[in-house]
This record gives sequence, C-alpha cells and structure tokens, in this order.
Amino acid sequence: MSRALIAGNWKMNGLKASLSQVEAVAAAVGSGHGDVTALLCLPATLVAAGSESAEGTALRIGGETCHHNVKGAHTGDISAEMLADAGASHVIVGHSERRADHGESDAVVSAQASAALAASLVPIICVGESLAEREAGRTLERIESQLAGSIPDGVGAADFVIAYEPIWAIGTGKVASTEQIAEVHGAIRAWLSGRFGASGVETLILYGGSMNPANAAEILAVDNVNGGLIGGASLKAEDFLSIYRAAI
Ligand code: PEP
Repeated sequence: MSRALIAGNWKMNGLKASLSQVEAVAAAVGSGHGDVTALLCLPATLVAAGSESAEGTALRIGGETCHHNVKGAHTGDISAEMLADAGASHVIVGHSERRADHGESDAVVSAQASAALAASLVPIICVGESLAEREAGRTLERIESQLAGSIPDGVGAADFVIAYEPIWAIGTGKVASTEQIAEVHGAIRAWLSGRFGASGVETLILYGGSMNPANAAEILAVDNVNGGLIGGASLKAEDFLSIYRAAI
C-alpha cells in the first residue's frame, strides 16, 4: 500500500493494565514501515501514558474526541490542546457514537476539527449512513452532506483524514461489501476533488466497520481505501498488528 493510516479506536475500553497492548504494538511497529502509519486512539485517561509507551517508536497516539473550544467552563470535556500536550498527534471527531450519544451535529464536528488543527492535531472526521438511509437509497446524499458540513473552511486536503464508517457495520460484525466500500470511497474522492481540485487525492480515506485480521487485506485493496479505523479488533495487539501488517 502507498501512504496509509491504520488507526485503532479503543472507545471506552482500557485500564492502565491495557498499556501492555500499547507497548506490544509499539515494539512491533518500531521505527515504522514505509508510508503506513500505525495509530492508537485511546481513552483520555490513557493518552499520556500511552504516548510514553510509544515514545521512540513510529506508533502514534490519538484522542477519541475533543471540545471545540480551547478552554473554559466545560466540565468533563477535554480540549485539543490538552490532547496534544499529553502526546497525541491525531483525534477522532464526529464518530457516529458521539453524534448519537452527545448530539454532535456536523457544525460541531467542523468546529472540533478546526480546534484540532489549531492544536496541530490531525482530525479524523467520521461520516457514515444508517441502515435506514442505505435502504432508502440515500447513502451518497447523506455522506456528501456530512462532508460538506463537517470539513471546516480554509483547510488543505492533506490536513485531515476522512473515515467512512457505515453505522450498521460498527461493532456488529456486518462488514460492507467491497462493492459498497468502493462506491462510497469513490464518491468521497470525487467530492474531495470537487472541493480541493487536484490536491483532493491527498486526503486519506479510511474504512471503518467490523474490520478484522480476516477481512483487512481484501478491504485495504479496494480503490480509494487508504487504511482503516478499527474498533474491537484494535484492543488486542496481535489483531491490530495483523491488520497493520496487511497494509505494509
Ligand atoms: C469504530 O469504532 O470506529 C469501529 C469501526 O468499530 P468496530 O471495528 O468494532 O466495528
């Protein structure tokens, strides 16, 4: 694979004892393998310790969301600057679980992505349709409207990452077919080219949704798939590494 990102999303999983998994991934990634970046997005409580575990290796550590403000009276929230200060390089914004659980709109996601960029983090902006939207034939319309609303003005195509995550495939064991993935990733690339011109090819587009060691190679070979966002299978170092190895 040429330039690619294999990103784990631990969600609300992991205690200090789980840092042994980060250490195992860091040891295997070592000084890195070509243009393929390995990233683990950890719960906020583990970002600083995870960054220490990954120090001196090419493994990158990220956050799972950030507030759109820099600081202030937002009890329980975490800013992009705080994540960067704890050693993060990336942050997921607009994950469908955040959109559903916390009512995060496209406008909020766009503001979070701006905050991430201002803190020198790379935002991974998630988009994806529900099962009802897919069955109604509204998948591409939904994705394009999320792209238009969630990517901030004034950014360059290489400044952010898009993760296409069909909601019905997240944590369900149901994987989108390679045809479905190719169609949506192709539409995202076309949309990016419309917005950014020739540099639209520079945006990494990840697939997410029940990716695992058994299906990774096939998914990663699809046109316009530049890596994966992996939930459940990123919790065990061996599974995550086997997906990473499929990309290198
Ligand atoms: C995710 O959380 O972004 C995800 C894709 O989860 P899973 O791999 O478990 O479906």
